Amino acid sequence: TRFDIFTHEFALEAMKNQKPKLLFIGYGEADDYGHDEDYDQYITSINRNDRMIEELWNYVQSDPFYKDQTTIIVTTDHGRGNGRQWPEHYDEIPGSDEGFILMIGNGINPKKFKQKQTYLNQIASTIADLMKVKTWNYKDSGKSLLK
Ligand SMILES: [Zn+2]
Repeated sequence: TRFDIFTHEFALEAMKNQKPKLLFIGYGEADDYGHDEDYDQYITSINRNDRMIEELWNYVQSDPFYKDQTTIIVTTDHGRGNGRQWPEHYDEIPGSDEGFILMIGNGINPKKFKQKQTYLNQIASTIADLMKVKTWNYKDSGKSLLK
């Protein structure tokens, strides 16, 4: 995995120069530090990611192309194990199947998601819903979080 600051700067430059309507940014440092059992760097990396997401949000709200019509979805592809197993995330590691989904911006009503269990297989249909594009009924896809 490359350092997240490079991924972040590439993403920001792409937004400024190419104006994509959909952009996936995969930060990976925290996962690497977690597997290395380097808790200090793990926490530091998560804190840097928080600031990067803040910078993304501030950028989209300052650019007329994105302002008030952009949604940012932040999630992980897995959680981390409980207790001493925190560095790992496999099927047999309790807790590692629990993550989070954060959504901010256009089309998101915070009251609708309070205390609601969600699943990662709902993200694709949520993105399609936000972008107002039709989706196909793939057997493993979940229902849009906006429904
Ligand atoms: Zn991992």
